[in-house]
Amino acid sequence: MATLASQPTHLKEDPWEMARSQLRRVATLIDLDENMLNVLSECKKAVIVSVPTRMDDGSVQAFEAFRVNHNIARGPSKGGIRYHPGVTLAETKALAMWMTWKCALMGLPFGGAKGGVVCDPKTMSVTELERLTRRYTTEIINQIGPEVDIPAPDVGTSPREMAWIFDTYSMNKGYSVLGVVTGKPLTVGGSLGRVEATARGATFCVREALRRRDQPVAGRRVAIQGFGNVGRNLALILSGDGARIVALSDSSGGIHNADGIDVAAAVEHKRENGTLGGAPGTEAISNDDLVLLDCDVLAPCALEHSLTAENADGVRADIVVEGANGPVTPAADRILEERGVLVLPDVLANAGGVVVSYFEWVQGLQEYFWKESEVNAKLNEIVTRAFAETWELHERRSIPMREAAYAIAVGRVAEATTTRGLYP
Ligand code: GLU
Repeated sequence: MATLASQPTHLKEDPWEMARSQLRRVATLIDLDENMLNVLSECKKAVIVSVPTRMDDGSVQAFEAFRVNHNIARGPSKGGIRYHPGVTLAETKALAMWMTWKCALMGLPFGGAKGGVVCDPKTMSVTELERLTRRYTTEIINQIGPEVDIPAPDVGTSPREMAWIFDTYSMNKGYSVLGVVTGKPLTVGGSLGRVEATARGATFCVREALRRRDQPVAGRRVAIQGFGNVGRNLALILSGDGARIVALSDSSGGIHNADGIDVAAAVEHKRENGTLGGAPGTEAISNDDLVLLDCDVLAPCALEHSLTAENADGVRADIVVEGANGPVTPAADRILEERGVLVLPDVLANAGGVVVSYFEWVQGLQEYFWKESEVNAKLNEIVTRAFAETWELHERRSIPMREAAYAIAVGRVAEATTTRGLYP
């Protein structure tokens, strides 16, 4: 058996410490009880498993994997599963905590969770990924379930993996359990609108932020880092709304055109060539330079720590919309704040995904499926209301949007915890 050797990481600081320091800052702001802070600063449960997987060459690799539940005071825990060579337990814990705040801010009856498998899906075959996913599901089968903890896609996973999780869990139960996982393909109980939901939610946030500055979306120059589900759909939706997409990137680099990229052509180019580089009418740009481009809206939609103390000074966008989780470090937050850059935080800006996951879970439990227009209208309602609540606190107390979002979310989780009382 072989284990993956230590992997290069995208993490520039400890994400778990970063998440806890954000919480401590907000605790002071809202006068959170010390005992409550102690509770919320920890994850309820973290499971580490080894996932032995037969590779196509006959060898067996033991992949390290995690499932972390941060909090379940408001309902079953919810959060995606990340397949990435650099994923760590500390990162998974931070992502689980952020899910708790995200669900609370959106008013969903969920707590927060996250899963991670240390693997490189880009180098694995479909059959290897299927065996890995089914064995990982089996290793965490007692941790998940429709009333317990409900996984979904995250970086490196997609509806395909969710179908395998759904099937593995259901085979073990002996019947189909639609509510065990969200982000499933439409053919096996997925929700219309789920694939585009994260990007659509981010678009609503950009629209609301611009509206408060009396600016339309049409004509705004947007740079997007990351071309996964979020970055790609954000580019398509915003360009459909008339925005000018001046830069796009994937993990191998970016493309730039100050007059606007033909997004549909870039999507097609990526599909054919596996990379954005060389898309018609564009010139190459590095991921490091993309975040410093002259534009109105910068959307980091890749991984954590794109903006740090090293580069935040050079950001020229007026608005940063966090399509990814944790792309702006606390030090970068302070620099952007001083420079008057509006940061729309992850727990608000990328919450559209989990909102439609909630709709999918409800539809699965009821075995009654909604029209796409209903899904999108309800998504709009929830995200726009959360934006308005966050904006109101941001203005009233003159605090950054991230602190306002956290203050609302942490307050709600604390209230639920107090109301339920400490067992026993
Ligand atoms: N992974 C996504 C997130 O970070 C979606 C989670 C979900 O739908 O449960 O919000």
